[in-house]
Amino acid sequence: MSTKNIQKIYSPVTPHFVGDGFRVHNFIPSIPGLDMQRMNPFLMLDYNAPYYFPPSATPRGVDVHPHRGFETVTIAYKGRVEHHDSSGGGGVIAEGDVQWMTAASGVLHKEFHEQEWSKQGGDFQMVQLWVNLPAHNKMSAPKYQAISNSNMNKFSLEQGLGTIEVIAGHYKDVVGSATTYTPIHVYNAKLKKGASAIFHFPSDYNTALLVIEGSMLLQEQAIPANHFALMANDGEDFSITATEDSIVLVLSGAPIPEPIAAYGPFVMNTKEELVQAFEDFNAGKFGTL
Ligand code: MN
Repeated sequence: MSTKNIQKIYSPVTPHFVGDGFRVHNFIPSIPGLDMQRMNPFLMLDYNAPYYFPPSATPRGVDVHPHRGFETVTIAYKGRVEHHDSSGGGGVIAEGDVQWMTAASGVLHKEFHEQEWSKQGGDFQMVQLWVNLPAHNKMSAPKYQAISNSNMNKFSLEQGLGTIEVIAGHYKDVVGSATTYTPIHVYNAKLKKGASAIFHFPSDYNTALLVIEGSMLLQEQAIPANHFALMANDGEDFSITATEDSIVLVLSGAPIPEPIAAYGPFVMNTKEELVQAFEDFNAGKFGTL
């Protein structure tokens, strides 16, 4: 047993809109200390903290945009989003669901509030993560994994004290629902007040937690909702205790030991590959949507 300590707690920064449908606090990579290389393989984390969208006949969202060189992972906590991409993937991500989209060589993508939900409006809460791909997979074929909450693999805590939803990687003997290209763990820890969960990750894995709902104690430090805890790369073990009914997003991944070249919706290894991505996009090689 060696303790993995807290490196720093981050408050959410001022939100901004992505399109007109996502009011997000960006943690990775815009907050100093949470850049792409520090958090690698997590390249981006946008968090739409709970926000009320009034009814709209026209769904709000983000119209057609490209991605290349990584995966986008959308985790819905409240509200419903409808996605489509140029490789033929698409569907509705409802509360509790996850969509794991491998953009890899390139897709066009659009993301809107689901039509019926949009008509009714309501509280909306969502995370979008970008997950890095190793160089030899950046130009792989696009792929799409729809993980409904009912099909998600889960670890149940004793005495009904909560559930660890294993989106990717593994928690104890429960294997995650998503297939990944490099070792990565993504969980939603849904804990009842007073419940604790322990975690064990290699010390070099970049590891962080985001309190989605409720509040937790992490090594005797109280972390409120919407706050982000960056763990140091000093040890392997830590635990959390929910101080009210809580949901905590847990992220840990092996850093990919390669250079990162990023511009807008493209994340490659070199500047030349970014130029190529723009040329391919402009030449229509990302397909049609
Ligand atoms: Mn997208």
